Amino acid sequence: MLDAAKLIFPGGVNSPVRAMRQVGLEPLFVSSAKGPYLYDVQGREYVDFIGAWGPMILGHAHPAVVDAVCQQAQKGLSYGISSPLELELGELVQSFFPSMQMMRFVNSGTEATMSAIRLAKGITGRQKIIKFQGCYHGHVDALLVSAGSGLLTFSSPSSEGIDPDLAKKTLVAEYNDLNSVATLFAEHPNEIATIIVEPIAGNMNMILPEPGFLQGLRQLCDTNGALLIFDEVMSGFRVAPGGAQEIYQVEPDLMALGKVIGGGMPAAAYGGRKEYMEKISPLGSVYQAGTMSGNPLAMACGIATLNVLKSLDYQDLQKRTEQFLSAWQTIAKESGCPMSYCVKGGMFGFVLDANYPTNFSQVSQLSSSRFGNFYRKAFRAGLYFAPSLFEAGFLSFAHEDSVLDLCLERLAFLLQTDLE
Ligand SMILES: *Cc1c(COP(=O)(O)O)cnc(C)c1O
Repeated sequence: MLDAAKLIFPGGVNSPVRAMRQVGLEPLFVSSAKGPYLYDVQGREYVDFIGAWGPMILGHAHPAVVDAVCQQAQKGLSYGISSPLELELGELVQSFFPSMQMMRFVNSGTEATMSAIRLAKGITGRQKIIKFQGCYHGHVDALLVSAGSGLLTFSSPSSEGIDPDLAKKTLVAEYNDLNSVATLFAEHPNEIATIIVEPIAGNMNMILPEPGFLQGLRQLCDTNGALLIFDEVMSGFRVAPGGAQEIYQVEPDLMALGKVIGGGMPAAAYGGRKEYMEKISPLGSVYQAGTMSGNPLAMACGIATLNVLKSLDYQDLQKRTEQFLSAWQTIAKESGCPMSYCVKGGMFGFVLDANYPTNFSQVSQLSSSRFGNFYRKAFRAGLYFAPSLFEAGFLSFAHEDSVLDLCLERLAFLLQTDLE
């Protein structure tokens, strides 16, 4: 299957991280998934700690969600016209995110951040943006940029095919370093439209904002007439019902949501303050559109997912996630393999090092061969973690204690052997 796939898809995959190259493995082909488990085409079972990269917070194929999608399928797959489902999901989203005064549905997180940035540029009439090293906001040209030489210099694109002039308008700051942001504002007065940030970062492993960081960004935006965009595509409905903004009590001007919002179907949203969203066409002059936007199957899937989530306890999910990581750490210590971790809600990060990182450069210094050795052992033991040092992990509400206990037994076994 892999040989055939390699002939028609670059690397045999339709999204690069699935290729599992960073850990020296071949792509997995999955035939089904249920609850916390994935089954590959050879019938092997894996405990899934990725959950489709975030959406599957209820576990795979949750009966209420599957039922809602099947019911809707009978009534038509796509209309390209408004439906009551959009309104229902929109109101549900507002009940989780009170600062989402007005929103628009799109199909992917990439579209959501891209549109939010276009809007911020339209509102401010400015062309430069600030992002943080190690934060990922989808494959938008202007956001596929990391710092070139040194953090406060003009940036260079991290992919070929991106206009270097566009990349120069993306200024890169260091996560958890307000001074690096203040310096950029001072160097580019009245030119910066927006700061886009993952308020809990999940694309450079998992990094929490240090106390005062998000508040500081809010202040810097207000002082300098820039808009603050929270990219909660991953953290939304995941670290807490109302995302990182609920935990840290900082309100963005605009936000991007994705992943959990569609419950496993392609849906995402951007929005925020009403007076800003009124600048989007057809009300305003910032254009954004989509044939599939508000797709009824995706809406039905999102509605069913959020309705189930409303009755679930995130504290409980966090406690279970915390207990799992902490028991794993104890096992690791006993085996003489250092490990440290980070948890919020159903999201976690772990590193095979005694000190937990606080920014991208620290994550970059971690040993990838050590991670690869651990990863391959875990994978062969049926534990499916994200195949990269730079990704976060997820627990779903379907990861019951009995499942996690079994995982801990396997971890204890595989950590007995040397990781070097
Ligand atoms: C996944 C992700 C995106 C991109 O979403 P896609 O649906 O893959 O386009 C954007 N921002 C963050 C924080 C993400 O985790």
